[in-house]
Amino acid sequence: MIKIQISKTLQGKIRQGYPWIFKYQIQNRISEDASENLGVVYDQNNRFLAVGLWDPGSDLCFRVLSLGKPMKIDGSFFLERLRSAKIIRAELEGQGTTGYRVINGESDGFPGLVLDRYEGVLVLKLYTASWFPFLVELCELFQKEFKSRQVVLRLARNVSKFLDTHSTYRDGQTLYGEETSGWVQFKENGLKFLADVVEGQKTGFFLDQRENRLRIRGMAKGRSVLNVFSYSGGFSVYALAGGCRSVMEVDSSSFALETSLRNLKLNFPEKSFPAQNFTQAEGDAFQILARLKSEKRFFDLVILDPPAFAKNKKQKAQALEAYTRLVKAGAQVTSGALLAASCSRHVPADEFYNAVYRGIDSAGKKYKEIAKTGHALDHPATFAEAFYLKSIYIQVGR
Ligand code: SAH
Repeated sequence: MIKIQISKTLQGKIRQGYPWIFKYQIQNRISEDASENLGVVYDQNNRFLAVGLWDPGSDLCFRVLSLGKPMKIDGSFFLERLRSAKIIRAELEGQGTTGYRVINGESDGFPGLVLDRYEGVLVLKLYTASWFPFLVELCELFQKEFKSRQVVLRLARNVSKFLDTHSTYRDGQTLYGEETSGWVQFKENGLKFLADVVEGQKTGFFLDQRENRLRIRGMAKGRSVLNVFSYSGGFSVYALAGGCRSVMEVDSSSFALETSLRNLKLNFPEKSFPAQNFTQAEGDAFQILARLKSEKRFFDLVILDPPAFAKNKKQKAQALEAYTRLVKAGAQVTSGALLAASCSRHVPADEFYNAVYRGIDSAGKKYKEIAKTGHALDHPATFAEAFYLKSIYIQVGR
């Protein structure tokens, strides 16, 4: 195993549960041609501190697997963690949910690895190539624990960009089971959805918004809803199930809007879509919101769930400014409640909420906070950097 030395300060942080070491933080020389995928961190007295995944191809080159005492990293180590992760999620199936996150990376003890379940199909997404040597073992484990019919591999961009044409692995590959088209049907709170697990964004569906969608169902009755950044129509299906008066979706992707129509038809087979009370607008959200304002259109419930505006720390200020602009544009067409969400991990929750308040202020509207929400139980966040999703519900006045 690779031996790693770091500063005392970072040792302290790691003891507290921070799970990462970046290349520039390593104090000893490590051979360039080392091929190990595991490393061990020692403290200044040369005592064992942590064992973890070593990834020389990435700036984030070490991710803690286990702290404190040396552990054998093998099938039974992973099985124990997988079972703990399963226990946390046990209540979901009883709520009519068969699509959810089974393993949420570092926060479930599998750093750089996400496992999402879509009924009988598991989607394994890797953020570091260091998992490759464990894949056969993991796949057998997942198969056994879930009796899944298929395991699909998804690779983060930073992983697939290093793979050459001879690599055993590629993004979208079926690791176990029969290769299918990619479309998988599953349930969330009793509602039906389709996800494209091979080509879709993330692993095919934004599973992290389940609790917000449920809340929107509860708020929707009799209301006109504007679902901005609607992707595959998650919020729209819930709003219609909650008895809303109408839905308008906005998204720049035609694939997203088409998938949303499929999800609507799946849940409301007796209705036809688009319909008088269900419309879609394809294009840039900022431009469409400006158009709606100029047309003096108002909605009782506006949902703003954009993609991450900050891809790194440097983009934080720019992202905050974009949230303010977006919320201003959203508030200008709101005659009731507004939900604003941020999935940018580089934007802290408090700063996001302040950006939202500034947006409503600059729209010249009064407001009252209804609620703030964070991560659902299948997306645990055990350290500050893992906490990315924050949402705020606001009653917007005149
Ligand atoms: N609310 C969704 C997830 C949103 S993901 C859900 O619950 O499933 C973000 C979406 O924003 C994607 O579908 C993407 O196509 C869309 N998007 C990205 N940039 C956009 C823009 N400038 N204008 C409109 N839509 C955009």
